Amino acid sequence: MGIEQRYANVAAEVAAVCREAGRDPAEVTVVAVSKTVGPDAVARALAAGARDFGENRPDGLAEKAAAFPQATWHFIGNIQSRRIPDIVRSAALVHSLFEERHARKIDEAAAVAGKVQDVLLEVNVSGEESKGGLAPGDVRALLDVCARLPHVRVRGLMTMAPQGDPAAARAVFEGLANLYAQLRAGLDPAQAALFDGLSMGMSEDWREAVRAGATIVRIGRAVFDDAFEA
Ligand SMILES: *Cc1c(COP(=O)(O)O)cnc(C)c1O
Repeated sequence: MGIEQRYANVAAEVAAVCREAGRDPAEVTVVAVSKTVGPDAVARALAAGARDFGENRPDGLAEKAAAFPQATWHFIGNIQSRRIPDIVRSAALVHSLFEERHARKIDEAAAVAGKVQDVLLEVNVSGEESKGGLAPGDVRALLDVCARLPHVRVRGLMTMAPQGDPAAARAVFEGLANLYAQLRAGLDPAQAALFDGLSMGMSEDWREAVRAGATIVRIGRAVFDDAFEA
């Protein structure tokens, strides 16, 4: 099976899982995570209908976003201060903000670039030490900091679940969805309307994430790796 077929299968399956869960498939964006592949593979996914792509390194992001400006590019990787201007130049949405100093740098870089940078706040729901992200109890404070930065707009939350443990992944997704609903209820209506992103679920666990309310799933291997078996 080629990339075109795998992308089409994933997109159709996401829509099917949405319907089973009583959700409108239009609510869920599939981000094809192209971090391990080159421009040829991106072109094939585009041909199959992919519109959103994710990269975890600033160089890969910049190169591919320049080559495929018709796509929407997401930055899903670890943020390094000195690379923030590069990330801001190319990313429509940054999924992985969790440090105040980075929020301030993104604000500065976005001002220079003449844009407002959409971001998600990354939350470490499971508390695994190896993972980045805010403790759930610290999200509100960073949301308040960002509300005062004119070139940063927080669009929602992101998390990564523990791999290889579906029950634990489900608990993490449900935990993030609850936190999201709670935070959203505390925003004024104009802010709440823009706080519409819940980025969770990867190749192995996106079904659970969609059932728990994900609006963005980030799928790499299931699209780009022909050895991947769902
Ligand atoms: C690589 C990556 C993905 C995609 O993972 P797959 O298991 O290949 O689907 C999703 N999110 C983040 C943050 C990643 O780094």
